[in-house]
Amino acid sequence: MQIKDSFDRTIDYVRIGVTDRCNLRCFYCMPKEGIPYEPKADLLSYEEIIRLLDVLGNLGFRKVRFTGGEPFLRKNFITLLEKTHQLAHFKNIHITTNGTLMTQHITKLMELGINSLNLSLDTLDADRFKKITRRDDFKKVIQTFHTLIDEGFKLKVNAVVMKGINTQDILPLVALAKQHPVSIRFIEEMPFNGGYKENSTIFKATDIFKTIKKKHVSLSPKIGKHGDTSTNYSIDGFIGDVGIIPAFSRTFCDTCNRLRITPKGDIKTCLYDGGTYSIRDYIRSGVTNEQIASKFMELIKLKPKDGFVAEKGTNKSLIREESMSSIGG
Ligand code: SAM
Ligand code: SF4
Repeated sequence: MQIKDSFDRTIDYVRIGVTDRCNLRCFYCMPKEGIPYEPKADLLSYEEIIRLLDVLGNLGFRKVRFTGGEPFLRKNFITLLEKTHQLAHFKNIHITTNGTLMTQHITKLMELGINSLNLSLDTLDADRFKKITRRDDFKKVIQTFHTLIDEGFKLKVNAVVMKGINTQDILPLVALAKQHPVSIRFIEEMPFNGGYKENSTIFKATDIFKTIKKKHVSLSPKIGKHGDTSTNYSIDGFIGDVGIIPAFSRTFCDTCNRLRITPKGDIKTCLYDGGTYSIRDYIRSGVTNEQIASKFMELIKLKPKDGFVAEKGTNKSLIREESMSSIGG
């Protein structure tokens, strides 16, 4: 079975925010004092997440990514991974992490066949790391990077690029892909930082491209896969590759294949839709799996054409109060 939205896009990828809590305070994601966290009882329980995944698996979903907040901060996160692994439809489990709390779990991840991770790292400079994340954890993250490489993980590094903050890190980060089999992905900053300020630091995907191309003239586009949000490029003589994600310019929406479930169980069929429907309240009202499946199908049919349409249809100030940590970025 394959489930399609009204624009004939196959929707088969779910991203689940397992917690809105985080141990870092990246300034593009949340204010320095943090965001008001949801009471724990209002977050989806692991049992509820597994039930939703089971329903989605039967609707043809095949890819799941756990994110947050920081997923490894949630108690017994490994139990959720084990239970997901037991589901027939989700053999490839993906995780996005800040890399500060996970090295002790690497063996278990390997046992569960989780051998690819997205690691967030915006700079190779310890001082800038501290400025961006408001925490002094650079050493831990870089150690995680090297441990994961040594253990043979397929690694994607996510770097948000911001004008006046870390554009000087683009080329040093690209250089990591010369000797390591990693994909370095540069992301445009989006307006989800728990209190958006107009004077933004957005550095456009086109400018990221130009910066890399100027130094690496052999930068050439690679053929993409279903649902890719990044345009990936190879560079002659590099083991790894480079990706650019136009998250703010939104040029990838016509191939979008994803659905998001926030930590408190709101369904977002688009990152820019302001949160649409509480599947948590729906399942807690005692409905059957068939009813949940019908609800998902109904919501997927309402998925907007693109992020601009979604943004127009929602209260702008609501979007700007959101944090990627509570959305599940
Ligand atoms: N804490 C984990 C981490 O940082 O990898 C997972 C959650 S974090 C919200 C997921 C991804 O969203 C990270 O790669 C982060 O850099 C990115 N992100 C957060 N806020 C963003 C923003 N305003 N614009 C673009 N990307 C953002
Ligand atoms: Fe935490 Fe990730 Fe947001 Fe940084 S980007 S504050 S690590 S949730």
